[in-house]
Amino acid sequence: VTDFWCERAWISGGDNAELAEHVLVRVSNGRIDSVEPNVAPTPTATQLRGLTLPGLANAHSHAFHRGLRGRTHSGTGSFWSWRDQMYALAGRLDPERYYHLALATYAEMAVAGFTAVGEFHYLHHLPDGSPHRPSNAMADALIAAAGEVGIRITLIDTCYLRGGVEADGGNVPLGTVQQRFSDRSVEAWIERTDALRPASHARLGAAIHSIRAVDPESMQQIAAFARDRHRPLHVHVSEQPAENRLCAEAYSCTPMELLDRCGALSPTATAVHATHLTPTDIDLMAASGTMCCMCPTTERDLADGIAPTRAFRDQQVAMCIGTDSHAIIDPFDEVRAIELDERLVSHTRGTHQPDQLLQMASQHGYRSLGWHDGGRIQVGALADFTSVGFDSPRLAGTSPDSALAATVFAASAGDVRTVVVDGRVIVRDGEHVALDVVDRLRTGIGMAWA
Ligand SMILES: [Zn+2]
Repeated sequence: VTDFWCERAWISGGDNAELAEHVLVRVSNGRIDSVEPNVAPTPTATQLRGLTLPGLANAHSHAFHRGLRGRTHSGTGSFWSWRDQMYALAGRLDPERYYHLALATYAEMAVAGFTAVGEFHYLHHLPDGSPHRPSNAMADALIAAAGEVGIRITLIDTCYLRGGVEADGGNVPLGTVQQRFSDRSVEAWIERTDALRPASHARLGAAIHSIRAVDPESMQQIAAFARDRHRPLHVHVSEQPAENRLCAEAYSCTPMELLDRCGALSPTATAVHATHLTPTDIDLMAASGTMCCMCPTTERDLADGIAPTRAFRDQQVAMCIGTDSHAIIDPFDEVRAIELDERLVSHTRGTHQPDQLLQMASQHGYRSLGWHDGGRIQVGALADFTSVGFDSPRLAGTSPDSALAATVFAASAGDVRTVVVDGRVIVRDGEHVALDVVDRLRTGIGMAWA
């Protein structure tokens, strides 16, 4: 049994969460046994100063994109010119380089306060498209990297079969770099992904890369596979208007409508980005219980646009967050952007309240990744927490009753002091307990480009 004493904590009772003071959280076997507010610190408890939040989930990551930070941010261009630079890096990675780059990226996530990551993984094969031996060497590298850092991972194994879609619905052949993304057929993808094994810190998910990269018949099979195996299903949807135009030409419908026809929308499905939607698209998400993963710092970096989050709120489409391309890794920056971008669009403040935003970063993210038992400080839940200190210039002087709002709207990743995953402290005083994160980033990114 391990005890944590929190100066202040955001604890859940049923569907609601509230701020409580002097909270003793008792943990055994990686689960929360008891949550008691208003108790004095015990001598044996690990003290968590500041505000303790439930574990935070990064529901959409491409770990290797961390190697692009700073390299793609000057000059002009669009999503599509950025993609060319991303492909240049994707072409260079082997299991060892992938491991070191992912280790560094996940370590940065841990010190930023993330306790779980959803890795949308499609770098499956050798550059010419032939399989690694063993065939899941790249996925195994990601699972091992998360294990070394000490965070949870959902390996979202992504199916990618074609270079795009013709106006008549025909397949565009894979490009040179895309060879390594593809298993050649949905049957081969199923066979390979079915051979993956979970671990105590790892669960498995499935993904359709996009309606560009997978044909409708294969999408149906992927959705059926995810349902049979009880795996969450993720898909990039309507990130760019060009994708919607392609889909309209080829299939006379929107990407969301196509996913609906293929049986891909459900309460265990997450539409990533879901930026350029019609009212019908939003109705389909609401009716099916499909979630939306917002990646605002990436979406602004890539000039994608702003998703209709007011409509999501009104129709109870649950939202979660992801740092996607890792232009920035900061859960607070990500989550406050959902509200702040909406203010710029609607000229109205307060569409999303601080507690709702935190719920997106915690409980909803865990749910999207298939960890339904995490993302809240509650008896029986996974023992994952993140503590934010109030001793930085950003947060000093915050009054107790504004702690939540100050954290959401002013904290940065640098304010994270303690991170606990599975009842174990992995970050203490803002530093990883076992890894030199700065050195790992230098090494991991250096190896990737060497
Ligand atoms: Zn993505």
